[in-house]
Formats: sequence, C-alpha cells, structure tokens
Amino acid sequence: MNRRHFFQSSVAAAVACALPYGRLYAVDQAATQAAGGVAAVTGAGKATVIEQAAIRELRGALRGGLLLAGDPGYEQARRVLNESIDKHPALVVQPTGVADIRTAVNFARERELLVAVKCGGHSPGGKSTCDGGMQIDLSRFRGARVDVAARRAYVAGGSLLGDLDHEAMANGLVTTAGTVSHTGVGGLTTGGGYGRLARRFGLALDNVRSVDVVTADGRYLHASGDENPDLYWGVRGGGGNFGVVTNFEFELHPMQRQIIGGNLVFPIQRARELFTLYREYSAAAPDDLYVDAAIVAPPAGQPGICMFHVCYSGPAERAEALLAPLRSFGTPVADTIRAQDYVAIQKSTDRSDPRNEGTYLKSGFIGAFPDALVGAIVDGFEPHPDRSTVLFFQHGGGATGRVAADATAFPHRYATHNMLAVVAWNLDGDGRPHMDWLRRYWAGGPEGFTKGFYTVETADESQAVRDDNYQGNLARLRKVKRKYDPGNLFRLNANVEPA
Ligand SMILES: Cc1cc2nc3c(=O)[nH]c(=O)nc-3n(C[C@H](O)[C@H](O)[C@H](O)COP(=O)(O)OP(=O)(O)OC[C@H]3O[C@@H](n4cnc5c(N)ncnc54)[C@H](O)[C@@H]3O)c2cc1C
Repeated sequence: MNRRHFFQSSVAAAVACALPYGRLYAVDQAATQAAGGVAAVTGAGKATVIEQAAIRELRGALRGGLLLAGDPGYEQARRVLNESIDKHPALVVQPTGVADIRTAVNFARERELLVAVKCGGHSPGGKSTCDGGMQIDLSRFRGARVDVAARRAYVAGGSLLGDLDHEAMANGLVTTAGTVSHTGVGGLTTGGGYGRLARRFGLALDNVRSVDVVTADGRYLHASGDENPDLYWGVRGGGGNFGVVTNFEFELHPMQRQIIGGNLVFPIQRARELFTLYREYSAAAPDDLYVDAAIVAPPAGQPGICMFHVCYSGPAERAEALLAPLRSFGTPVADTIRAQDYVAIQKSTDRSDPRNEGTYLKSGFIGAFPDALVGAIVDGFEPHPDRSTVLFFQHGGGATGRVAADATAFPHRYATHNMLAVVAWNLDGDGRPHMDWLRRYWAGGPEGFTKGFYTVETADESQAVRDDNYQGNLARLRKVKRKYDPGNLFRLNANVEPA
C-alpha cells in the first residue's frame, strides 16, 4: 500500500468510527481537513477521503463556489427550510452554470460520493442536504426568461417559484406553480406541482414542454416529446432520480393579473360543519375556482381556527354567485377575500423567518371525500399548548385529473385533494413527542382514507412503500433509471432503484 492510500484509509477508518455523522461529522471534518483531506461518504455509506489536491482541482475547474465546513456561506447552504434537519455535507458546490454542474456530477460519480441536489430546500425530509456527501446547491443558478410570442418560460433549475410567477405575470402570462413563492421550481416540478391554478392548467409538470438535464454520466441532454422521450417522461414525476434539471421549458397561459382570493376564517368549533360543506363545495367547483380548507391549532393557547382559502381566477362577474355558499356559512372571524394581485396571493403564505422551527408532516391523496373522513379529522384533532398543528386539504382534481396515469411518471391522477397534517415546534424543545403525536393522529384516522401520497412530501418511508407509490409506472421508471443513472448516483429523492 503506498503512502497516500495508507493515509486515506487510516483517516477513513477514523471517520468511520465516528459514524453516524450528524454533529459529530462536523468535528471530524475539521480534524480530517487539518490532516490534509476531506472526510466524505459514498452513496453506499462507506467512509472515504477526498485529497486536498482533488479539492484544489475541483475548485479551479468551477466558475461558481466550492464550500467546505467552516467556509463563509457553508452553514446557510447546508440548511434547509425544515430546521430540524441538521446535516453537514463534505462539499458544497454552488454552480453558476451548466458547465459547473457537469463538473460537480463527474467529480461525485468518479468518487462514488453521496449526492444531494438543493433547489428551494423545501423537501420536508431534508433530501436536498446530506451528511458527508456532495451537496449541489443550485441557489446561484436562478432565472426565468419569457418568450411572450411563443408563450414559453425558460427557467433555470435553481429558480424559486416566485422567479417564474414574477416574470410570467409581468407579460400577462402564468403557469401552475405552488402556493409558497420560495419553494424551488426544481423539486416541485419534477415531483408534481399543485397550486392555485392547477385545476385550470394542470400540474406544473403537465406544463413542461422540455427539459435540459445533466445526467449521472455527466452528459447534457435535451429531453422533450421528440428527443430522449423516456427521460422527458421520467423527469415529470420521477423527481431528481435521473439527473440535475438545468432548464425547464414551461407552457404559459394568458391570465388577468387580478384574481379574487383570500381567507374566510371561523372558530375551530365549526370545523365539522366547515369540512362537511367543503367536501361538497370543492367537488362541484369549476376549474377556475381553487379552495383549500384547514383546521389550525396555534401554539400557546391561542384560539384554534378553521378556514377556507380561495383563489378564483375566472370572470370576475361570476365570483359573487360562486362564493355565495361559503359566504352563507356564517359570520367569519376574519374575511380577507377580495380582488387582488395574483403574484401577491402567491406570496401570501411565505414565511419570512423560519429560524428555530422544526416541522414534521404526513400526507396522502384522496380520490373520494366520504362524510366519515370529516369525523376522522375533527375527532382526533387536539389543540396543544406548546406546538402548532394543522390539517389541510390542497384542492386537486380539474385539469390535474384529465391526464392518463401513465402519460407522465406521476400516477396519482385520481386525486381530488392532497390531505396534509403538519406539526411544528420550537427547536429549543424536543421534537419527538410532537412527531409521535402526529404519527398517532394520522394512523388513527385520516390515513385510512388516503390512496398513495405525494412523493416530494414524505420523509421516512421504506423503499417498498416508495415503489408501491409509483403504482403502474414503477417498472418503466426503473428502466429509465437504469439507462440514465445505473449507479444510483441520484438517490436522495423518492428513489427509484435501477432495473
Ligand atoms: C412551505 C411549503 C409549501 C409547499 N407548497 C406546495 C404546493 O403548493 N404545491 C406542491 O405541489 N408542493 C408544495 N410543497 C412541496 C414541494 O413541492 C416539495 O417539497 C418540493 O420537493 C420542494 O422543492 P424544492 O426545490 O424547494 O426542494 P429541495 O429540498 O431543494 O429539493 C427536493 C428534491 O428535489 C430534487 N431537485 C430539486 N431541484 C432539482 C433540479 N433542478 N433537478 C433535479 N432534481 C431537483 C432534489 O434532488 C431533492 O430530492 C411545499 C413544501 C413546503 C415546505
């Protein structure tokens, strides 16, 4: 064994003793760096060391940034929205262009490194960060360009939804995006993409006309209905399994800037009646009417509420009649429904400061809304003094359901609603009791009414459960995976194992 290999394997052995990584990893990382290498982890979970010479070479090959533990910006990059996720990548590459992404992917593949791809960092389970691997942080790779005549938006793979909405709406055009403007286009679009306009224009991924992708072998491929159609199919619902999407080409639709939207809020005691109305009202809604319903128990003994959230994007003169059943539900404690700017409502639930808050969620699709589900939600839902809990329905159906289950890799076309239960807690306390409570509540009632779940939202499912959730599309996805990522370089996602 030569000196370099001896050095590498002794450092690797020392690091392996400190596994599992977590906070310990950061400490080891500093020691290993001082000793001349960077301790890292392969996709298969083995300890390895990246020599300083290789780090220097990588840094020199990038136009963007390369961050190691302790570098300015490293802490911000490794963090994701869910602050209870506390992972420490060995390397963070911050590409500024496609060439950097290819360099990063080639470097990671040659060393078999664990790879995480981060766009908006909204993955609830923290799949866009990792312990000991390479994080490809796309935060410096943002931008949306609109071709008004062709009604297309070309959106860089690290963009946030707000980038897309802002540029498109400035031209009187839109496409479906999620309901929180700092969610990443990358994770939302490759996973599905529900939002206030999805019932009208389909999921975000239904509006993708082509993508450019850096695949695991470092190639830079265009994929559309005509070119690499298998990749085009898989990227729309298969998440980040096939590579890093560097560009999304979205179809845009003309829409007026003013929509009618806002919240109607009622005391929590009316939750049963509210969901009973919602199950019928949401089922009968036209495509241009989007209505969510929620029950919310805020922390610290504040009064609980239940509510409707509305976005109506159709002809204004029809709004009053369409909203009449909600208005006649009774006197609300708050009513914010009014004509407003579409881009403003898209930002209305943004979080200005998520620091020090952990979250955990359970979610599932429903294809029918029986009366018994109302009881299952309300009876088990307990307000708690020290945490906030929410159960809400995101309105699906409409155009999202008029696509064949195998037309894209996203199979859940039967879903009329996505049902989510979320608990949030202050990180100064212990999150485990909150997570346990949510698991009990979910399993004890709402879960029994679900069929499949939204892959981008889950945190802790087994491979068998993930496989099942791809339903009839699994076999085809596994073939596409074998073709574009046979070594499973991109595994931190709703992973598809290569066929
Ligand atoms: C506050 C909040 C609101 C949400 N609202 C909605 C909503 O209204 N509608 C909806 O449908 N979903 C919603 N979601 C779910 C959201 O779509 C998923 O969590 C999604 O994965 C987030 O994407 P991201 O880029 O921000 O996540 P990240 O954590 O950055 O990435 C998540 C996954 O996407 C992959 N990925 C990211 N970018 C790329 C890329 N360029 N190429 C290839 N793979 C990539 C990563 O590998 C990773 O596995 C919401 C989530 C949160 C936390």
